[in-house]
Amino acid sequence: MTLVGYRCAPMTPNMGQGACQAIEDAAVALADCLAQRDDTAAALLCYELHRSQRANLIVRQSWRIGRVAQWQNPALCAVRDAAVRALGPGAQLRQLRFTLGVEA
Ligand SMILES: Cc1cc2nc3c(=O)[nH]c(=O)nc-3n(C[C@H](O)[C@H](O)[C@H](O)COP(=O)(O)OP(=O)(O)OC[C@H]3O[C@@H](n4cnc5c(N)ncnc54)[C@H](O)[C@@H]3O)c2cc1C
Repeated sequence: MTLVGYRCAPMTPNMGQGACQAIEDAAVALADCLAQRDDTAAALLCYELHRSQRANLIVRQSWRIGRVAQWQNPALCAVRDAAVRALGPGAQLRQLRFTLGVEA
């Protein structure tokens, strides 16, 4: 038995990655591990080792973004909004690369 998707990596919605990561779990990582090994138990272990690090990285990043996005203090919000504007599209690209697991 193993877990895929939201049940093993429950994440905040801030990166829009819940379903994406569930698909990566089942359709890519689990499918690859099962295809590469005859022993199902070994395949599930391979999947869990491979996936936990990456999925947890996304879970933590999504939580961090959500925490900052929900600031209530008007002064902090103004600083945050100005910083996001100043970072520009390069920051979005870096975030996308991080999410996709692509080296910069
Ligand atoms: C408003 C909203 C917007 C979202 N937007 C995005 C987005 O833009 N991008 C993105 O990647 N993700 C998004 N998500 C997150 C995404 O929907 C979830 O992370 C994803 O659906 C998780 O998939 P899952 O298969 O792990 O779980 P689920 O989709 O929850 O599927 C679990 C299934 O198991 C069934 N089930 C539960 N218990 C039992 C049982 N005992 N026996 C049999 N069946 C059972 C349920 O009925 C359900 O069909 C959004 C979520 C919400 C709510």
